[in-house]
Amino acid sequence: MIRINENYNKLQSSYLFSEIAKRVSTFQEANPDKALIRLGIGDVTHALPPACIDALHNAVDEMAADATFRGYGPEQGYPFLRTAIAEYDFKKNGIKIDSDEIFVSDGSKCDTGNFQELLAGDISVAVPDPVYPVYVDTNVMAGRTGANHHGRYEGLVYLPSTAENGFVPDVPAEPVDLIYLCFPNNPTGATATRDQLKEWVDYAHKNKALILFDAAYEAFITDKTLPRSIYEIDGAREVAVEFRSFSKTAGFTGTRCAFTVVPHECRAFDANGGQQLLHPLWNRRHTTKFNGVSYPVQCAAAAVYTPAGREQVNALVSGYLDNARIINESIRAQGYETAGGVNSPYVWIKTGTDSWEFFDRLLNAAGVVVTPGSGFGACGQGYIRISAFNSAENVKTAMERIKTALQ
Ligand code: PLP
Repeated sequence: MIRINENYNKLQSSYLFSEIAKRVSTFQEANPDKALIRLGIGDVTHALPPACIDALHNAVDEMAADATFRGYGPEQGYPFLRTAIAEYDFKKNGIKIDSDEIFVSDGSKCDTGNFQELLAGDISVAVPDPVYPVYVDTNVMAGRTGANHHGRYEGLVYLPSTAENGFVPDVPAEPVDLIYLCFPNNPTGATATRDQLKEWVDYAHKNKALILFDAAYEAFITDKTLPRSIYEIDGAREVAVEFRSFSKTAGFTGTRCAFTVVPHECRAFDANGGQQLLHPLWNRRHTTKFNGVSYPVQCAAAAVYTPAGREQVNALVSGYLDNARIINESIRAQGYETAGGVNSPYVWIKTGTDSWEFFDRLLNAAGVVVTPGSGFGACGQGYIRISAFNSAENVKTAMERIKTALQ
């Protein structure tokens, strides 16, 4: 008898975005003439940088001639892209990462979701609360949790990210084996200092733990004192894997390209306490289950590192950061406490009411769609997330409308 993986039955339905969609469509049916402004889902709105488009066109032309056509490429990514990443994202910032420590993929969602496959089924797992749901759900699927009670899974260690700790979770009192961290954070927009990351790296050494560090939004860090990579912290190479994506940096959400960094020294342990390196394991997993990102897309990603590409990407990121600043200032001016909005495309707003109640208020009175914080975890209750991914014009209009609605 064919049987299912019953861990899937423990998963909560992806209530958040389906509920948002339901409420938005009810509103639109009742108000067909009202133009909605969407500052909810974290998808980018601007076109790809011209340098990436040129590279895509050229690569497509190469695919059109036998002499330059490419079939399967290296599963880990073409050397031209891995080298550019190592050079510009790491070496230029004084961080030692070699090109063969970079694994190119079609997204950080898959990478952050897939990496746990290398690890034992009975390890303890810590996740921030609020959290990017992929970290939680993939561990549920893998059977590392019990049932869900009131929005929390048995067996997971939740790390509260609250106003009290500046939305940077404290290291837990108990030892845990696997820790997910994300900075700049989705959804809170918080960033971590070097000292804060150092505490986590030290904790991982002390407890023989592993950190999965999601840096999907690192490009939004403009404050030079803040770390953009966990490898800026001494000792991180042994205890941390880093995930990066071209999605939010260069507008690749629909084009799909990302990468995972697994340093050669990064380790886990076998049942006898013997050390095992993760690089060969991830290489094995990646080459067995993944056949590489398409050649044109890798060419487009490599174009991000050309002089023109870097300038265009910086302009894109600065535009979104300007939006975040406008959102942050406008919401604060109305007396609300916020986090994020600086070095991050997300603004996290304390509503003073239930998250969904505030969501409904902004939808119905302002025609602006945001994301209720409670959808990201228990500690998100009483907050909403506003995303800066939209045009400057829409953001300004949305802030005007919100101001009127909240008065
Ligand atoms: N990590 C975080 C924290 C995200 O917010 C997102 C997307 O919203 C991703 C990863 C997914 O990135 P990608 O488009 O590369 O799959």
